[in-house]
Amino acid sequence: MNDNARVIYEGPSQITGKGHIVGIVTGLARKRDGTAKVKSTNTKLAGDAASHVMQLFILNADEHPSHAVYDSGNDEHICGSCPHKRGNPISSRCYVRVEQAPRAVWQSYADGNIEYMDPRDVAANQPTDTGLMRLGAYGDPAAIPFKVLRELMNGIGGQRYLAPDQFKRHTGYTHQWMLQHIDQRLRFFLMASVESECQQDLATSMGWRTFRVVEQGESLRTSGNRPEIACPASKEQGYRLNCVECGACNGERLTSGAPLGDLTRKVNVMIEAH
Ligand code: SF4
Repeated sequence: MNDNARVIYEGPSQITGKGHIVGIVTGLARKRDGTAKVKSTNTKLAGDAASHVMQLFILNADEHPSHAVYDSGNDEHICGSCPHKRGNPISSRCYVRVEQAPRAVWQSYADGNIEYMDPRDVAANQPTDTGLMRLGAYGDPAAIPFKVLRELMNGIGGQRYLAPDQFKRHTGYTHQWMLQHIDQRLRFFLMASVESECQQDLATSMGWRTFRVVEQGESLRTSGNRPEIACPASKEQGYRLNCVECGACNGERLTSGAPLGDLTRKVNVMIEAH
């Protein structure tokens, strides 16, 4: 069996109300000495080699990720109408290579090698109490029921509901914030992904913090309701911080001890598309 991953949700998509999707947390493996087995190798967005990262993958349960993206279009169950998703003729900017990690995780699940774990038990099984939880290494976390995400995050530093301080950081983004049927409490965990100032204003008025993807050369916005910062893990910012160190993209949740201080819960974030 796969000792690094656990299924925490299986059922219909909360985005489309249909489909058969699965939520899988990875990064649970331990070495014999009890320390985390898998370390992050993504120095740009996830952290340096010493930073452990747990990740939530959201996948179609019965379909190879590449097939869902390029053939059937069933990636709508996990990505909605995200303008960046692959196969979208307008943008297709999604940086996730579905044929790599998503395929490997899905294949392990399809082979019957990933066991179920109650989301409330993930925190007790996390191999380290420092590092990062990425909600949505692939797929939009809004596809998972809010109740499941809340149970997962309660144990992993979801201070909004309980008070454990196990995982110091998490990141998460959703393009579904404007959908009427989406649970608006997701803003406690996730940033609203936006592509324009107009969308940013709307999301802000609904209580969301925003992560704005802009064209190259665009400036930080100074007229919004909240200050906007450039992602410090971006090329333009010289990769001066990684997500573990920064932790700004955690929705409305209060982050303790973050280098950016109180600003981490108040700022919006901007990044240039490449
Ligand atoms: S702003 Fe911070 S948390 Fe958000 S993507 Fe950039 S480095 Fe990561």
